[in-house]
Amino acid sequence: MLLIEDHDEIADLLRLYLEQEGFTLIHAVSGEEGLERMRERAPRAVLLDLGLPGMDGVVVCREIRKQSDVPILMLTARDSETDTIIGLEVGADDYVTKPFSPREVVARLLAVLRRAEERPITAKVRTVGGCSIDAGRREVVTGDGTKIRPTAREFDLLWYLAEHVGLVLSRSQILEAVWGYDYFGETRTVDVHIRQIRKKIPEIAIETVWGVGYRIDH
Ligand code: CA
Repeated sequence: MLLIEDHDEIADLLRLYLEQEGFTLIHAVSGEEGLERMRERAPRAVLLDLGLPGMDGVVVCREIRKQSDVPILMLTARDSETDTIIGLEVGADDYVTKPFSPREVVARLLAVLRRAEERPITAKVRTVGGCSIDAGRREVVTGDGTKIRPTAREFDLLWYLAEHVGLVLSRSQILEAVWGYDYFGETRTVDVHIRQIRKKIPEIAIETVWGVGYRIDH
């Protein structure tokens, strides 16, 4: 487990709880150090503070995503909607807002790890809007042959919608299926991910069904 956090007290507190859960914690105090540890140690998950001196947490998250699908849990300092949305947009799996309880962090972390391990490994392909969505390679190939690699969570969400073409799926249904039954975050998370998928793959029309949720039509 890699923790990138400049605040020592928070790091010590998280270390205590995570080690009780049997995790080994590598602590980096800056984004630069975090990326270096990332290369050396290939951690199972990353806890990433958004407000870091020097290289910002958002930049660090983007850098990690260029090379890895490792689950990332973002620690945001303020209950600022902008911060959390930016975090999810650059590829974090989930976030917790400071001040947080270490128990909450552990619970969220276990949830992202479990989801990462449950990702489908069988090679299955579905075609939607002229694009083929490949669950084995976890990539989307558009009609003109362009390959797009969504983040792990975006892919899981897209796959879930593609498996239920024609059906309207509510935000809470999506949260349960894609984030897990014990997820206690907000439905806003779904909206942010949908927006990202639409931006990356405009060929796939994800319809917003007002007051209900989302659907990919036939
Ligand atoms: Ca900080």
